[in-house]
Amino acid sequence: MRVVLLGPPGAGKGTQAQIIAGHLAAPAISTGDIFRANVSGRTELGQKAKTYMDAGDLVPDEVTVAMVKDRLAEPDAKAGFLLDGFPRTIAQAEQLRDSLAELGNGLDRVLELVVDEDELVRRLSGRRMLVDGEWVQRSDDEPETVRHRLQVYREQTAPLSGFYEGEGLLARIDAIGSVEDVTARALEALGWSPRSGQQAGA
Ligand code: AMP
Repeated sequence: MRVVLLGPPGAGKGTQAQIIAGHLAAPAISTGDIFRANVSGRTELGQKAKTYMDAGDLVPDEVTVAMVKDRLAEPDAKAGFLLDGFPRTIAQAEQLRDSLAELGNGLDRVLELVVDEDELVRRLSGRRMLVDGEWVQRSDDEPETVRHRLQVYREQTAPLSGFYEGEGLLARIDAIGSVEDVTARALEALGWSPRSGQQAGA
């Protein structure tokens, strides 16, 4: 299955991506994680991305799209994938559609995790990640940057909801509640039966 996970920062995309990908036996591909790994590794790509990330802005489409194309060409993504944090602009979505079409493929489903903005701000300001055994705040989770990232989401990424609705691919998922409840809603929207571990009707 080829799935996109859409939703604002703090909606739980990363957590859900890992769990859902485990059920689908497909790789979860997070553009944010790939960028962060490149920033830590001080690669050329990391240097290009860092200024944008620190400001809470999107990395330019041409950099991001080329990186995703390379990742999707790897053998583990041939049969399916779950994209977390990509696409984030209509231009990215169009380029993803075109490059999948060149291979005779297309997306099966787009899941949008829906959470209201007050809850997002609460979650992001309390979020910590483990680095070298220590819990630290992501530099782009500081309050000023969080507000900016939410604005970037509203302006550049939220229109993807209508784009994918028009393509008949969108399922909106209420992402408030326990991790397990949200996973169950997402799997249901994918037609996945958690008990049998198979797609319903398959
Ligand atoms: P995330 O971990 O998905 O919140 O991404 C962290 C940061 O990486 C974002 O704020 C952007 O600066 C950058 N980023 C991740 N995915 C994309 C994308 N699809 N397009 C542009 N920038 C991205």
